[in-house]
Amino acid sequence: MINLKKENPIKTLTQSKLILYTALFLVLFDNYSFFSNVLKVYPLNITNIGPLLSLGFVLFAVIVLLFTLLSSKFTTKPILIIVVIVSSLTNYFMNTYHIVVDESMIRNTMQTNINESMDLLSIKQVVYFLFLGLLPAWYIYKAEIYYRGFKSELIAKVKLIALALAIVGVSAFAFGGFYASFLREHKPLRFTTNPTYWIYSLGKYISLTYNSGPIVLKAIGEDATIESSDKMKKIVIMVVGEAARADHFSLNGYERETNPLLKKEDIINFSNTFSCGTSTAESVPCMFSVYDRSDYSYKKGISTENVVDVLKHTNKIALLWRDNNSDSKGVALRIPYQNYKSAKNNTICENGECRDVGMLVGLDDFIEKNRDKDIFIVLHQMGNHGPEYYKRYPKAFEKFTPTCKTNQLEQCSEAEVNNAYDNALLYTDYFLTQTIDFLKKYNSNYKTAMIYMSDHGESLGEGGLYLHGLPYFIAPDAQKHIGTIMWFDEKMKQDFDVKKLKANSDKEFSQDNLFSTLLGLFKVKTEVYEAQKDMLR
Ligand SMILES: [Zn+2]
Repeated sequence: MINLKKENPIKTLTQSKLILYTALFLVLFDNYSFFSNVLKVYPLNITNIGPLLSLGFVLFAVIVLLFTLLSSKFTTKPILIIVVIVSSLTNYFMNTYHIVVDESMIRNTMQTNINESMDLLSIKQVVYFLFLGLLPAWYIYKAEIYYRGFKSELIAKVKLIALALAIVGVSAFAFGGFYASFLREHKPLRFTTNPTYWIYSLGKYISLTYNSGPIVLKAIGEDATIESSDKMKKIVIMVVGEAARADHFSLNGYERETNPLLKKEDIINFSNTFSCGTSTAESVPCMFSVYDRSDYSYKKGISTENVVDVLKHTNKIALLWRDNNSDSKGVALRIPYQNYKSAKNNTICENGECRDVGMLVGLDDFIEKNRDKDIFIVLHQMGNHGPEYYKRYPKAFEKFTPTCKTNQLEQCSEAEVNNAYDNALLYTDYFLTQTIDFLKKYNSNYKTAMIYMSDHGESLGEGGLYLHGLPYFIAPDAQKHIGTIMWFDEKMKQDFDVKKLKANSDKEFSQDNLFSTLLGLFKVKTEVYEAQKDMLR
């Protein structure tokens, strides 16, 4: 392959060069699945040619970066040899069976014995193994690497890392829109990159297998009681919104009328509220948890009881979680839960899309059955779930047109994306008003309230960014500034200083405030209640 004519030819091979050659080899010969999948989504044409080429360079850069960080006199060769051999096999399995080598696949493989593995063996596999695995491994094994002094090797390493980062940086800068789409809308594509994805999955497998003892749930607020002289019971419906960014609410000054119905209700609009995370999985458990954003982690969240559990400890509140989104993200594990994304429960579904208003159907029965208790119901909305905003509302709500009718948002104009998104917000405006109307029926016998809080915001193409989920510290406000609205009937209003609340409703709040606000609303006495965080005090 390489024609070296010097006296001691092989000695000219440095560690850096070996890493570059191996990375190039892996990109060219072990990523057939990846590139063919990419071409299915981004066909080869004049607009895509630049981003597609850069994708090859970025994959190369990521592999170089990985190898460089793990390289040393004693580790470089063994690591490269193992990687080319394993990658030849993952390449074979991906091409032949179209599988993805993820953490559960590795778990399965580890539990498979040798005899079962032999059943899968084929001539084709042997060919892959010999030519893409053993042959390059043999070359790496035989290569005599010329190691320079520590300082020179360190400088070479820094250069390689800088090169890799420069490739990634330039690509992201030149084709930002393409990479946003690639990373957010076509997640599965990266599952077939080789060797990066199987190495990532192996790491995940190891950390999940050896790092996670059984989760012990820590109880909090077991002292919770309701000592209220109220003769009236309460009904509180909490709506957890989806991807509703505050600056698209006309209540917050958006130039389009996206809250035509809510503005007629006597609501309090908390115009300056921020989320805990930028994804459903992060924000939903965090907003109900006792921990503040700065203190919250996934593990702490699932191993500590949340505010719904504390309400349950009072034994005086009937609880229900209805979900038309994904699930409760662990919040409703210990209270009654109903899946309303299924036509089995939700009576208002069309073409596989179940509507949020369907969650209101039948709630009367639940209230009737729990007549001696306060009621707390959570409705987890489908809301503005992207990228297919145009599917999130019935035809009657298509007020802003033309709309983007594909899941590849970057192919639509910004106006079309915004139109579809705003129509979905209009539908939420309708749903929240329907919820308020539902509560009004109970005004004579109950104190009632509706609390609405979105889980996170959404990017709609600003700076080439779409959807949500960016790391919090780099995410734009569009993904963090969330819609938050409350409504109280006349009797419930007597519990607070409504005038003052309205005057201060543009104060900065966050999902950290929800925990104590809900406890305060039900007048729960417990050591975990913090009055200074209660939005209504
Ligand atoms: Zn969400």
